[in-house]
Amino acid sequence: MLKEDDRIAVAISGGKDSAVLLHILQQIEERFPESEIVPVTIDEGIHGYRDQALESARNLSTSLGLDLQVFSFKDLFGHTLDSIIASREGISLGACSYCGVFRRRALNVAAERLGADVIATGHNMDDEAQTVLMNVLRGDSSRLARTNVKRNRSIEGLVPRVKPIMVLSERDIVAYSHVLDLPYHDVPCPYATEAYRNDVRHFLNEMEHKRPGTLITLLRSGEAISDAFQKISTGGTMGYCERCGSPSPSKVCKVCELLDKMEN
Ligand code: SF4
Repeated sequence: MLKEDDRIAVAISGGKDSAVLLHILQQIEERFPESEIVPVTIDEGIHGYRDQALESARNLSTSLGLDLQVFSFKDLFGHTLDSIIASREGISLGACSYCGVFRRRALNVAAERLGADVIATGHNMDDEAQTVLMNVLRGDSSRLARTNVKRNRSIEGLVPRVKPIMVLSERDIVAYSHVLDLPYHDVPCPYATEAYRNDVRHFLNEMEHKRPGTLITLLRSGEAISDAFQKISTGGTMGYCERCGSPSPSKVCKVCELLDKMEN
């Protein structure tokens, strides 16, 4: 996933997963003097939530001798997530749909501006298994194919992404962060109740309890499907947005489409 001289943008949310990721990477990185770690937080503008999580992210970065870089939705797109949600009358998309689309773009812009070679995110095994199942349940085969694409297959214009702790379960991550007493923010996002992911999480937790190994099997199935798709794909499905020039499977990318909807 990582090279010896990488400049690694580590996405820090302020939560336990990214705290553990940063802690582990920083320890490994000490053995590779040519590489560098830059912690990055995307501030979506969620009052009473992101501001507190930002403080945890800053404390963690400072405790590891790192300088946290912050990029906000407001600066990059002209809106906070709160203002988007307040003005979305008549639009059926949930908060997490906006948040996910804008956050992915924000992270890419941040990594490009910071000159990063790669973005590391703190997705864990539970997150990844949930994502695979959600894509199957939604019938979103193209997203299933694009999930966890190997670094050497990355697309021009997108900084490659890696998930170094994705085979660690949420339980192991909680244990690791408690043993090391890492500072993290543990209050759920006020929009989290909307998430389709919650239903999938409850179902998978029950399955994992009844049939241990369900999560890792689902994660590996998702990787195998993505690999199989990449092998037969000619790579012709990804073009560039005709408005902003970002890589996009459609003529107008999702970010421009959502910004248009909000402005009209
Ligand atoms: Fe964004 Fe949804 Fe996560 Fe809140 S729960 S931070 S709105 S993706």
